[in-house]
Amino acid sequence: MAEHGPIFAAMLEEFDEAARKLNLERGIWDILTHPKRQIIVSCPVQMDNGAIQVFTGYRVQYNITLGPAKGGIRYHPAVSLDEVTTLAAWMTWKCAVAHVPFGGGKGGVICDPTRMSPRELEALTRRYIAEIIEAIGPEKDVPAPDVNTNEQVMAWVMDTYSMHVGHTETAVVTGKPLEMGGSLGRREATGRGVMIVARESAKHVGFDIKGATVAVQGFGNVGSVSARLLAASGARVVAVTDWKGGVYNAKGLDIDKLITYAAEEKTVDGFSGGEPLKNEQLFGLEVDILIPAALENQITMENAAQIRAKVIVEGANGPTTPDANNLLHSRGIFVVPDILANSGGVSASYFEWVQDRYGYFWTEKEVNERLEAKISEAFKAVSETAAKYVVDMRTAAYIVAIHRVATVTKLRGMYA
Ligand code: NAD
Repeated sequence: MAEHGPIFAAMLEEFDEAARKLNLERGIWDILTHPKRQIIVSCPVQMDNGAIQVFTGYRVQYNITLGPAKGGIRYHPAVSLDEVTTLAAWMTWKCAVAHVPFGGGKGGVICDPTRMSPRELEALTRRYIAEIIEAIGPEKDVPAPDVNTNEQVMAWVMDTYSMHVGHTETAVVTGKPLEMGGSLGRREATGRGVMIVARESAKHVGFDIKGATVAVQGFGNVGSVSARLLAASGARVVAVTDWKGGVYNAKGLDIDKLITYAAEEKTVDGFSGGEPLKNEQLFGLEVDILIPAALENQITMENAAQIRAKVIVEGANGPTTPDANNLLHSRGIFVVPDILANSGGVSASYFEWVQDRYGYFWTEKEVNERLEAKISEAFKAVSETAAKYVVDMRTAAYIVAIHRVATVTKLRGMYA
């Protein structure tokens, strides 16, 4: 077994449990727990003050059995090979659960984008892409936005790649601006997927989404869209918190007004349509559905015993620690794991890639209908697997993913 870091080790715990339930053969187990390719590059950039700074960048293609690697590019001072490899592994399982023909990848550059000018960021992006250019492409590896990268960065990625190959190639990256091959519905897709999963979970557990009470942690892209679409489906969003504070209204918050308020104030704290609520209080609320949509490691052994929700839908990546997950499961709380709950984003990325390669673009209605079908199918596959193997939804999602990648690995056979 190759050496791996602590973040990867945590992913392996989840993997191993599912692999044991599947009775996965040792050889396939080994293949699926090793990254296929890890690329490390040095990216010299001339900064605005004239000095040259060298940034370290990574691109990991964890597994490409099902198709091109898919996964975001992260710009952050804490980026490490261990983190990027683990995120690429998670993308492998997420794409497999979502049943899209992609493998898992991830990229990252060690940098602090908050202290860089737009020109420096553009230069870094172009140099990083130039350094990994042989490894990416519509049929090889298709990056996307992640922490601190956005549509503009994706536009630079697309342009740099296109300049190198000598023609415009939109399908090399997803999360692009609409004007240059982006997809309608993509910005909302993760939140829309969370809403669909919340609705299906309610049905599964035995209550109606209409009138169900919802609490949401985080009111960024994922949290605000989930809240708005759940309110539109008849649910009552009673509590929302963010980095600064929160708001509670037992009758249901006016989400449209809250979105307008948060856009102006950069927080939901102080919203007049409810009472103030602290972040620590959110998890103790008696609600039907709790949606962590902020950061990782929010539900821990410190607060899991206080949670009174019937259903938890993980909008964020990794919001629940493994021991807290086990405690919630033993308390009968239905937890839908991130790799299923927020897979709407990667499904919409797949739709963007398909439209770019097709050169024919769908209406927003078509995108949303296809997303609805994909997420409902994924939820059904995971909940049926949970029943068959008598496991929680997290282990079931891993079982579905590992089974799909393992099956194709075996069908393809060993190249030697
Ligand atoms: P975002 O930056 O738009 O929003 C994050 C929100 O979390 C903000 O409202 C922020 O105030 C809040 N927050 C930050 N620190 C907090 C704290 N300590 N307590 C409570 N709230 C806090 O991010 P996003 O795009 O909505 O992503 C949220 C999560 O969903 C992340 O884990 C991300 O990896 C995951 N995710 C996002 C997408 C996507 O398409 N955007 C797809 C898959 C997964």
